Amino acid sequence: MSTHANRPTSEALYEVAQKCIVGGVNSPSRSYKAVGGGAPVYMERGEGAYFYDVDGNRYIDYLAAYGPIITGHGHPHITEAITNASKNGLLYGTPHRLEIDFAHKLQQAIPSLEKVRFTNSGTEAVMTTIRVARAYTGRELVVKFSGCYHGHSDLMLIAAGSGPATLGSPDSAGVTKATAKEVITTPFNDIEAYRQIMQEWGDQVACVLVEPIVGNFGIVEPQPGFLEAINEITHEHGALVIYDEVITAFRFMYGSAQELLNIRPDMTALGKIIGGGLPIGAYGGRQDIMEHVAPLGPAYQAGTMAGNPASMAAGIACLELLEQPGVYEEFDRLGAKLEQGILEAADTHAVTITINRLKGALTVYFTDETVVDYLGAERADSEMFGRFFKLMLEQGVNLAPSKYEAWFLTTAHTEADIDETIAAVNRAFAQL
Ligand code: PMP
Repeated sequence: MSTHANRPTSEALYEVAQKCIVGGVNSPSRSYKAVGGGAPVYMERGEGAYFYDVDGNRYIDYLAAYGPIITGHGHPHITEAITNASKNGLLYGTPHRLEIDFAHKLQQAIPSLEKVRFTNSGTEAVMTTIRVARAYTGRELVVKFSGCYHGHSDLMLIAAGSGPATLGSPDSAGVTKATAKEVITTPFNDIEAYRQIMQEWGDQVACVLVEPIVGNFGIVEPQPGFLEAINEITHEHGALVIYDEVITAFRFMYGSAQELLNIRPDMTALGKIIGGGLPIGAYGGRQDIMEHVAPLGPAYQAGTMAGNPASMAAGIACLELLEQPGVYEEFDRLGAKLEQGILEAADTHAVTITINRLKGALTVYFTDETVVDYLGAERADSEMFGRFFKLMLEQGVNLAPSKYEAWFLTTAHTEADIDETIAAVNRAFAQL
């Protein structure tokens, strides 16, 4: 018999998958390596806040595909937009109207995007901002914060956080020593450490990559004054500030974290939510910088699939749903309820946790410390998280299989889903 705890069809599919797909997965974080191994759950169908696996079990889903699925699985407004767009052909290789409509919509929500360009993934978007920053400044060094993941371009696989850290390979094999020497890493939320690095290297630094609110060692907010200091110090040294808003844009408000925090970078990379569930990335920023991009300037970036009609249509439809009144207030209300319920369960069952939450995104760390940087997240108990993750699956709740990831609410989650989740957390904590 198959139950949430016994998933024979998933096990069988994993066996087959390993024979044809490396490691059985198309992205390492989908494997259960970081939570003690075993066959991942094979999902068959998603609908709203729920997933149904190949064994017929239903799960309340908080993975949200690592962020993009903010309006729940298969939202009819988005699927209809994709269907309609696809009726006119899937790909043109020419400019078309939808990409202008979408660029305008993004610019209205994120005014620092004076010019924008679409890519196919967050990785490409970030990778290109660095190239453009180097072209603009004529410098080569890049600064990033330890533990922050910015996609898998070679440069960004240095001290790269959740995926790589979970797999115990913060510096990927295959990235050259020469590349590693082009990247300087420093702790998030530590202004003095950054100031010192810039004092030493500032005249060679092209840009600093910043997740204004970290999403990749859990949800970690910047301490007051941190982002302002980054802007000031970076500009003093003639370098550019790039915000990686692949997770944060449209997650906490209609717009990006830069609107939420009232601060502006020179360039921004986007992805995930803005594609409504289809492949996408985008980057943009100050006009004088973006004019360095081909065909206007010498920095090359291109893409056969970039700006494809289906992704544009899905993105527009997703933003139409998110700009409705009350969406983010409801995320905050349900997020607070979930946080409170988990904290009470921890109290009842004497489990030590810390929760970082902003609106509808939260991370549960098995630690008694306040988590403000990567090292704090790293010290949280991995083994306990692994057991918790599996117990939650058995209770019908799907989380990301890594202690470094966030739980994401969607507009499809209801009060009843939160109650069901809190009951599941209580049962899981009782067995920890
Ligand atoms: N930047 C951040 C902050 C991310 O979280 C991710 C993906 N998790 C990326 C970049 C890379 O995006 P993609 O997976 O679409 O290449």
